Amino acid sequence: MSGYGPLLATLFALLIGLIVGKAWERYKLREGRWIDRRRSRESPHYVLGLDFLVGRQLDQAIEELSRAGSIDPEALEIQMVLGNAYREKGQVGRAITIHQNLLQRPKLSKLEHAYVLVCLGLDYRRGGFVDRALEAFQEVRRLDPHNREALTQVQRLYEEQHQWDEAARVRQQIASLPNEDPGRNQAILAYIENEIGMQHLRQQEVGPAARRFESAIDLDKAAVPAYINLGDVRAREGRMDQAIAQWECAVRVAPERAYLVFDRLEQAYAKADAPAKFQAFCRRLIDANPQDWRARLALARHLAAAGAVRPSLDLLLDALPFNPHGLSIHQEIWQVLTRLHLDPALVQRYVDLTRDAVFYLDPHVCTRCRYRSTELLWQCPQCHEWNTFVEERIAPAEGLET
Ligand SMILES: [Zn+2]
Repeated sequence: MSGYGPLLATLFALLIGLIVGKAWERYKLREGRWIDRRRSRESPHYVLGLDFLVGRQLDQAIEELSRAGSIDPEALEIQMVLGNAYREKGQVGRAITIHQNLLQRPKLSKLEHAYVLVCLGLDYRRGGFVDRALEAFQEVRRLDPHNREALTQVQRLYEEQHQWDEAARVRQQIASLPNEDPGRNQAILAYIENEIGMQHLRQQEVGPAARRFESAIDLDKAAVPAYINLGDVRAREGRMDQAIAQWECAVRVAPERAYLVFDRLEQAYAKADAPAKFQAFCRRLIDANPQDWRARLALARHLAAAGAVRPSLDLLLDALPFNPHGLSIHQEIWQVLTRLHLDPALVQRYVDLTRDAVFYLDPHVCTRCRYRSTELLWQCPQCHEWNTFVEERIAPAEGLET
């Protein structure tokens, strides 16, 4: 029994040392008073500040975080978040000052240094100081090469400047990080490649543009805009068969985006003396997805143009329950009704009365940040994410919800 005595004493001493160490870490002496450092983070002010921040109530967030920060001015994360709150409020100068002051602290770890620099880079970006922002993010990468946030921000800055080659290079670096989703990265690289093709196209460099669109498709078989653009190039070159093939590919990989090529295919089939193909094409889409109101609308327009007004109206009335607020369907119905020998004056009056009514012109919404747009966008102008837009149908008729 006595043999355990020294061992127990050592263990006891160790334990005491640990507790004292922990306490030292937690409490510190300031102006003759012991301050509980953990408490500053657990103070209602800090938690309230974070709550307000999440709810975008920035003034209240700043007030609470400032209070929490005054309890323990050395708590790094409180100052970091406070600076971010100022940035979100648009007071970029204050945000920059706070974050720059944090960088002056002598005992920052490498990782802390990197985090503060990310905040500072975001401040600069918000303030429109692109070069300084880039510098800050590059510095983060020197301190922490795996810092995904810094890489993502650098990519966005390049994208905003339309420096697509650089954006692609940075995306490849992100793709090589651990735990990355290879499919998502390939898809983003394909969108960037497609943008490079568009840049060539704007400079009338058709050959290089086509090659970029092809390599975008190689990167991601579902790169819809690349198929559409490649088809456009082929049509410009007079190779209509190949143009049609590309546009049909776009529909195969993303039937829900088929409407992007309706006009192109309708004209191309007509030029090829095969207008029946467009009807068959729309029918196939409707069969595959009975809720496809856009295919019905396209076919209805096609039929009405060919004089088949009554079948056209039937299709439109079939389409309407799937998108009751869709302005484009209503507009087509007005057109068709005027041609069906109803009292033209009455119909015209209805058309005039509803022309400025609130209908929704095919709203699209970003699934990431809820940004709304009347047209499909491949990159969100607000959160800069790629391919996040879905069509938003407002209040479909009862019983028809998917
Ligand atoms: Zn967005």
